[in-house]
Amino acid sequence: MNQIVVMSLDARLGLDKYEIDEERNHITVDHERCKLCVDKPCLTVCPAQVYKWVDERVAVSYENCLECGTCQISCDSGGKGGITWNNPTGGFGILFRYG
Ligand code: SF4
Ligand code: SF4
Repeated sequence: MNQIVVMSLDARLGLDKYEIDEERNHITVDHERCKLCVDKPCLTVCPAQVYKWVDERVAVSYENCLECGTCQISCDSGGKGGITWNNPTGGFGILFRYG
């Protein structure tokens, strides 16, 4: 009988591969807009915790991005539209290996 192995989310994500584009950040934020943003949903919605509050501004660790698009939607709908998100350059970004 086949045994079903249940993997944790962290274990699944650990199988993924990232090709990091050192020369192009595919996510930028407009810090002037962020100053006007009360709720700052970007700090809580990202499953990869790409956005952090550091030294009174939003810091972006784009190299950890899972390319789900949640931050753009939450920023446009519940923030101040400060995020500009572009697809990573071809060949860069995340390569999912599970499922
Ligand atoms: S949700 Fe958008 S506008 Fe608000 S702090 Fe985050 S990036 Fe800035
Ligand atoms: S696309 Fe998804 S993983 Fe990437 S920064 Fe936005 S919310 Fe986070």
